[in-house]
Amino acid sequence: MVTQSKPCRIGVMGGTFDPIHYGHLVTAEVVRGEFDIDLVLFVPSGVPPHKDPRQVSSKEHRYLMTVFATLTNPFFEVSRVDIDREGETYTIDTLRDLRKLYGDEAELFFITGADAIAEIMDWKNAAELVKLAEFVAATRPGYQFDRKLQEWFEQHGKKLHLLQVPAMAISSTDIRRRVQAQKSIRYFVPEAVEHYIRKNSLYLEHHTHSTADNNEISS
Ligand code: NAP
Repeated sequence: MVTQSKPCRIGVMGGTFDPIHYGHLVTAEVVRGEFDIDLVLFVPSGVPPHKDPRQVSSKEHRYLMTVFATLTNPFFEVSRVDIDREGETYTIDTLRDLRKLYGDEAELFFITGADAIAEIMDWKNAAELVKLAEFVAATRPGYQFDRKLQEWFEQHGKKLHLLQVPAMAISSTDIRRRVQAQKSIRYFVPEAVEHYIRKNSLYLEHHTHSTADNNEISS
């Protein structure tokens, strides 16, 4: 249970979450246990710089699905830092904002997918970024990292933590395709998320969603 005092070890679960699924939730729970984390903050991206905005659902849809998915876990919370910041979402800004909120004594563990972390050398202010947190990459079993990536972390005095999570066989891309093809997504996402997707007619058409937040929301 999260106590009233400020959490010291904070997992920062960054992702587009379009939609959030059980692979993400299992990853966060496993990392929480492995790294003795007090609180996992799910941080849905506002405007991912590496994606075509027409192919991403509105940030409020993604935020609300994340809230519904995490509601029953007392160690999980959802942060709006990336959703509410103007402009494109860069992890350097996420970690700086969270550092301001939680103070210098907090230890941050940035958790995301291995395919995303594999590009970290090209992220904005990468050399500063790597010093602001520990980085945990969730991989599907059998995933092999480029040795260059580990070496890059070592050059900055850090280690990239790898965690194999079988549930990461579930993917947001596959879920969107399944909805479009009118296939079941039961047991891929929490029930509330499935209802939310159906009620708001998400993922029925290709490339029609937008981060512009002009979609009407039913919840
Ligand atoms: P992505 O390119 O959509 O995802 C790459 C892979 O990682 C996918 O297989 C994805 O699976 C998986 N993944 C994404 N988030 C995950 C999570 N929290 N836990 C486990 N697997 C996850 O990546 P993204 O979601 O847009 O971005 C991931 C994070 O990296 C975000 O916080 C984003 O802001 C940050 N990022 C920062 C920069 C930058 O600062 N320049 C650039 C890129 C990304 P699913 O599709 O199933 O989620």
